[in-house]
Amino acid sequence: MAASRDGVLPRYWHDFDAGIPLDARIDHVVDWMTAADGPRPGLVAVYLENVDRAGHDHGPHAPQTRAAIRAADAAVGSLLAHLDHAAMAERTNVVVVSDHGMADVAADHTWRSRTWPRWRKPRWSASVR
Ligand SMILES: [Zn+2]
Repeated sequence: MAASRDGVLPRYWHDFDAGIPLDARIDHVVDWMTAADGPRPGLVAVYLENVDRAGHDHGPHAPQTRAAIRAADAAVGSLLAHLDHAAMAERTNVVVVSDHGMADVAADHTWRSRTWPRWRKPRWSASVR
């Protein structure tokens, strides 16, 4: 479900579904952006989670992560090619962002979050209140 802001919803959206291939996601937003009828969106956001997922699952320098980067790069390249073909490249800003970086961590410097102690509400002393 799309998030509303002050009761306003996006005109077009799809709920996130990791099962939809990256190229299908790109094709879909290109269809929105190049629609002959109806209003075209002024802002489009596409989530490509594959690099993040591969990095978390296999590490930032793993072959699986490199393959995910290649796939995401191909998806962005496909978007740019579609925009160029539709003569929209010159008037479209494409911004690629990431939610965080990643670094290799030695296995003996990790722990499972499920083993963390349960959070307890702090008990403030009278002088802190
Ligand atoms: Zn992440």
